[in-house]
Amino acid sequence: MEPTTVFDPELVTAYLSIGVVAALALTVIAALARTLVLHGRLARRTRELEIELAQRQRAEAQLQATHDELENRVRERTRALETRNEELSRLRLALETANRRLRHLVAADPLTGIANRRHFDRTLDREVRRARREQRPLSLIFLDLDEFKHFNDTYGHAHGDEVLRRVARTLDESFRRGGDLVARYGGEEFAVVLPGVDAHRAGLYAERLRRRIWRLAISSGTGESAERITISGGVAAIAPGSPGFHDTAPDVLLRAADQALYRAKCQGRNRIAMANAPVATSAERPVVELAS
Ligand code: GH3
Ligand code: MG
Ligand code: MG
Repeated sequence: MEPTTVFDPELVTAYLSIGVVAALALTVIAALARTLVLHGRLARRTRELEIELAQRQRAEAQLQATHDELENRVRERTRALETRNEELSRLRLALETANRRLRHLVAADPLTGIANRRHFDRTLDREVRRARREQRPLSLIFLDLDEFKHFNDTYGHAHGDEVLRRVARTLDESFRRGGDLVARYGGEEFAVVLPGVDAHRAGLYAERLRRRIWRLAISSGTGESAERITISGGVAAIAPGSPGFHDTAPDVLLRAADQALYRAKCQGRNRIAMANAPVATSAERPVVELAS
């Protein structure tokens, strides 16, 4: 008996085909499964990215809002600071004006508006020291209204005040050079500090002033001095080379001018007298034209 053939080519081919098909199917299924897994991951990642994007957009919006708010605040603050600065500038200006007024009030005589005694004292002190330092002459004119008590008694105090104002104005107009100081020393007494002016010129200036007051022709109410308001003056000066130049104190100069004034009064008023040496040397002593 012929043995049974196990190897059937058709069967083998069939089996092989089935195997190939199965393998292919498996491959496809595997590919499909991988695709599905990848798709799932992709979808998850996409969702995650979308969420992240949304979060970022929210954060950016918040950041923008914060930035806008900050900018607004900075703008408001800047505006407030500018307003405050303007206010401060206005206040500083007002303060400077007030200070200037205050300085003027402290230094000015309330009745006449010219420098007061305090300002005069300080100026004379400063100018004496400067004259010594810079080796320059310095003159002082001391003036006093003649018989002013009588004027007040005749015309009243208010009228007297008006005369004091007129005399002060005339004085002020007569000494306009930078550095000159015209002051009300007190009562009906005035003083003029003249830096850089020697005794001779100071005497001439004092005499010119005396004439100007005389020419105002203010009735004095007396029978004397041609019935006009008049002034008497004393002039004292220091000058380089004159005795005592380096140690003359302001009050010495003042006393010298006052003594000269006293002499002018004694000699009949309405005149200018020069101080004696050593405050002004005899060579510098001017020849002063006296009242007519
Ligand atoms: P003399 O020529 O000797 O200087 O005489 P006089 O009368 O001017 O001097 P006296 O010292 O006797 O009087 C000064 C007068 O000046 C007295 C006072 O009535 C007056 N007087 C002083 N201060 C003021 C003032 O502020 N206003 C007025 N109206 N008069 C004043
Ligand atoms: Mg007097
Ligand atoms: Mg007088």
